[in-house]
Amino acid sequence: MLSGSLTGERTAMAIYKSGAYLTQSQDAAFDAEHEPGGAVPHSGIYRCMGCGREVVAEESRKLPPQNHHEHSSAQGKIRWRMIVYADHKPK
Ligand SMILES: [Zn+2]
Repeated sequence: MLSGSLTGERTAMAIYKSGAYLTQSQDAAFDAEHEPGGAVPHSGIYRCMGCGREVVAEESRKLPPQNHHEHSSAQGKIRWRMIVYADHKPK
C-alpha cells in the first residue's frame, strides 16, 4: 500500500506516476477473464473483477486460487483480468 495520501481517495485502480512508461492497447489479451488457479498467459498486473484487488502474476506460473481472498455473494467468484502487461523483452 502506498503512503496515506492515496489511501483515502483510492478508487480501486492501479496507480502510476509517469504515463511515459505505459502504452494504451486494444489487445484482446486485456479482455480475457481467467479462472482462479489458472495459468498466467502474460506477466503483469491482474485485477479481480469481483472486488478490484490487484496482484502481480508471472507468466508460466498460476493465478491466485479461489481461497486467495473472500468475496461477498454480491461480488461473485474470483476472476482475474490482466490490466497491465509487463514487457520482459523490450525492443
Ligand atoms: Zn476479489
